Amino acid sequence: MKRAPLILLAAVLVQIIASFTFNRKPSWGFFAHQKINRLAVFTLPPEMTTFYKHHIQYITENAVNPDKRRYAVDYEAPRHYIDLDVYGDSAVYKMPRYWNDAIEKYTEDTLQAYGIVPWHVHFVTYQLTEAFKENNAEDILRYSADLGHYIGDANVPLHTTENYNGQLTDQYGIHGFWESRLPELYSEDYDFFVGKAEYVENTQIAIWDAVKEAHLALDSVFSFEKKLTKKMDDDTKYSSELRGNVNVKVYSRNFSKAYHKMLSGQVERRMRNSIKMVGDFWYTAWVNAGQPDLDLLIDERPIFSRDEFITNSQSNKLRRHESGVEN
Ligand SMILES: [Zn+2]
Repeated sequence: MKRAPLILLAAVLVQIIASFTFNRKPSWGFFAHQKINRLAVFTLPPEMTTFYKHHIQYITENAVNPDKRRYAVDYEAPRHYIDLDVYGDSAVYKMPRYWNDAIEKYTEDTLQAYGIVPWHVHFVTYQLTEAFKENNAEDILRYSADLGHYIGDANVPLHTTENYNGQLTDQYGIHGFWESRLPELYSEDYDFFVGKAEYVENTQIAIWDAVKEAHLALDSVFSFEKKLTKKMDDDTKYSSELRGNVNVKVYSRNFSKAYHKMLSGQVERRMRNSIKMVGDFWYTAWVNAGQPDLDLLIDERPIFSRDEFITNSQSNKLRRHESGVEN
């Protein structure tokens, strides 16, 4: 009789330990990822809106699936970031935009070791396009939710650097601060009206533009934090807040407010860009698939029970596609 609570406690402990040990880069907090996917639905044209609104809860809740998969499979983690600085100073401009060119220059092992987010966004865009062509409601929803996640990650400055949590510059904790605490504290006041989804001529270049903008924002992300830290002692910089029943150390409200102000809209701009891009990419995949009638799929009850991971045949298909016209 006493075993059940113990097992439960053990399971909770394992999860807590795992979240510290394996979660190399938690991406936009759950809160921001869900908000981005949800708001992207409202950018879509009428032909897509009915279907996406019907499934808005799924699209929102499953915005965080890719982060959950990191605990299950090794190959998931590199899909969420790219350590551009390991490739040299102006890598953000020089890095090959297309997967095959990048492999040729650096080898696939190297790319996987330092993260592949922009190329993975392209892969999932392709998967989503195929799902639209096949009128497969389950896959359309699954890949739409996933794509929203990876596009969101590609827009986060700290997902484009080896120093992803300030661990190399004595700014440990800055990752969650920027992408979770700040949006949670201030996004109520953000302007999320981003206009209508637009067709993207070249999604591979577009996602790289987002990565570039995110990477160029890093200088402010780090230097403003340093500047403020010099002005405040630890007691002013941090405070403790109650989460559930536990007191946790957080960046204080004063520090957060001052930092957010110095960033002058940076978090808001990255979130807005994410929302707009997610809408644009969903729309572009649908157009490229020949604009299938989504209203016909609306009554299909998705099962979502199939293996979520990419099968070999799918990845072979992509390789063929990669070496085709778009490249
Ligand atoms: Zn992520």
